[in-house]
Amino acid sequence: MGDKGRTFIVLLGVPGAGKGTQARRLEEELGLPQISTGDIFRYNLKYETPLGLLAKGYMDAGDLVPDDVTIRMVADRLEQDDCVSGALMDGFPRNLIQAAAFDAMTAPYGGVTAAPLIHIEDEEAIQRITGRRVCRVCGAVYHIQFNPPQVSGVCDVDGGELYQRDDDKPETVRNRLYVYYKQTSPLVGYYFAKGLLREVDGAQSIEQVQATLLNVLAA
Ligand code: ADP
Ligand code: ADP
Repeated sequence: MGDKGRTFIVLLGVPGAGKGTQARRLEEELGLPQISTGDIFRYNLKYETPLGLLAKGYMDAGDLVPDDVTIRMVADRLEQDDCVSGALMDGFPRNLIQAAAFDAMTAPYGGVTAAPLIHIEDEEAIQRITGRRVCRVCGAVYHIQFNPPQVSGVCDVDGGELYQRDDDKPETVRNRLYVYYKQTSPLVGYYFAKGLLREVDGAQSIEQVQATLLNVLAA
């Protein structure tokens, strides 16, 4: 796909659209690692690193963590060996400053390959976010109705406890959607203008969204 041997896919969509779910499934299919900035922040928070403590207040409020910190974190992550073929970006870039920084980081490898937009309505996003449950051990993502584990509250993969993210509670969800429309949605026009936007109907089943994504990425 990408020039000079690297493929960078930027998954776009409101919180709850299914970016993380799809990125995990596509990792194997495309041979690219998922880079989820939200997951990296949550990992740092769990181990109370300085980065985690810095991010906490922003995440609790549903605001974006400052760009300089986030951009540096992604640049470091892209240096790791598993990114030799590229990466599946889940949750980054999230505003125009981050998008410009990502273009600069990836320019030596041909830049961004494609930016699929997983589209769902806000009502659906709210239902998905408030029912989301995450494994404490491996981060696998479930939904109490739409994608339940075999045993309630227990991860199918490793038996880990499932929990609800603090920022998935209704008070914070509203601000996260606001932040999305204000700061992240301009990326739709940004990638459209570059001919990289690929629209995908996210209201289908998880399997159907995956198949559609693979189709638009192959086209
Ligand atoms: P994002 O990373 O975009 O915030 P997630 O992948 O975490 O979204 O998905 C949000 C929630 O919606 C999760 O609980 C997930 O299990 C559920 N979900 C994901 N895709 C679908 C789908 N196609 N249909 C129904 N529920 C879905
Ligand atoms: P979701 O999958 O529901 O969209 P994420 O896990 O991607 O949520 O993000 C959770 C929180 O982590 C965000 O609300 C924000 O505080 C922080 N975050 C994640 N990615 C970024 C980013 N690229 N820039 C700034 N903050 C981010």
